[in-house]
Amino acid sequence: MIKINKDFQAIPSRLIENVTLQQTSSAIATQNGNLYTTNYNHDTVKEALSLLYHDKCAYCESKITSGAYLQVEHYRPKAKVDAKDLPNGQVHKGYYWLGNEWSNLLFACQKCNQQGAKGNRFPIKGIRVLTHPQDSSQYFILHQSMLDEIPLLLNPELVDPSDHLSIDHIGVLHGKSGSGDISIQIYRLNRVDLIIERKKIIDNFVNRIKKQLSRYNDPLLPTRLSPGQFQDQMTIIFEDLIEGQLPQEQYSFVYINILNQFDSLILPHIDPVFQQEIKTAFQTFIHTIFP
Ligand SMILES: [Zn+2]
Repeated sequence: MIKINKDFQAIPSRLIENVTLQQTSSAIATQNGNLYTTNYNHDTVKEALSLLYHDKCAYCESKITSGAYLQVEHYRPKAKVDAKDLPNGQVHKGYYWLGNEWSNLLFACQKCNQQGAKGNRFPIKGIRVLTHPQDSSQYFILHQSMLDEIPLLLNPELVDPSDHLSIDHIGVLHGKSGSGDISIQIYRLNRVDLIIERKKIIDNFVNRIKKQLSRYNDPLLPTRLSPGQFQDQMTIIFEDLIEGQLPQEQYSFVYINILNQFDSLILPHIDPVFQQEIKTAFQTFIHTIFP
C-alpha cells in the first residue's frame, strides 16, 4: 500500500449528474444502501480511479494483469457494517448516504474487497455515525464527524501507509501501529500469493547482487571485475530500485522499503563476509543519487 494523492474536488462527472443525485436521495430516504447498483461504478469513475491508482489495488498494489479485475470499493461500506465491528446487539445499516461520494470511493481487487476480507468491515475506535447527517457537507470523508469515528482501517488517500506498515526480508508485512495490524488482518495483506510476489522482488535483487559478487571475488575468473566495474554493476542493479518505487509499479511499497531499509531487507541474504562490501556499494550509490 502506498500513499495516493487524490484531488477530492475533481469529482468524476457522473457522480454529480441528476440521475446520481436522485439515486443518493432515494437511498437516504429509505436508508437503503443496496440501491446503489450503478453510477458509483460508472466508466467515468472507473477511469478516474484507474488513473489515480495506476490500475493497482489501493490495498495490496496488485495490478489487473496479476490479480482479478479491480472494483470501485466503498471505504465506508454502503449497505451494512459487519457485526464484528459493532458493540453487541448494535445494527448498522451501512453508510447509505456515501454510496456515490467521491471521497468514499477507492479502487480495490476482489481478493482484498471480498467477504472474508474487507467486505463490510469497518472497525473504528471513536464515535460511530449511525444515520445520515442533515447537512450534506458532512458526507465528505474529511469532515470532522467522519474523522471523529477514528477509523482503524488504513485509507491510502488519507494517510501514508509507510507510517503504519513495514516489510521484512522474506516479504511479510508487519504493523507499525494498531491500524497497520488491523489493516493487514482485514485486507488480508499477508495472503500467501502476496508474500510470494513481494519475496520474488527481494530475491531477484539478491540474486543479481550475488551474481556480480561472484564475478568480483573469484581470483581465477579471467573476466574478474575491477572495483570500479563492480560498483558500476551494483549501480545498474540499484537503479532498478529507483524505477520500482514509482507509483505505477506493482508492489512499489517493497522497493520503497528496500531503499529505506536496505540493511535489514537485503543484507540478511548476503554471506556475512561480503555484507560490508555490499553495504558500502549501496551507500556509494545513494550518495550519488541524493548528494
Ligand atoms: Zn488487493
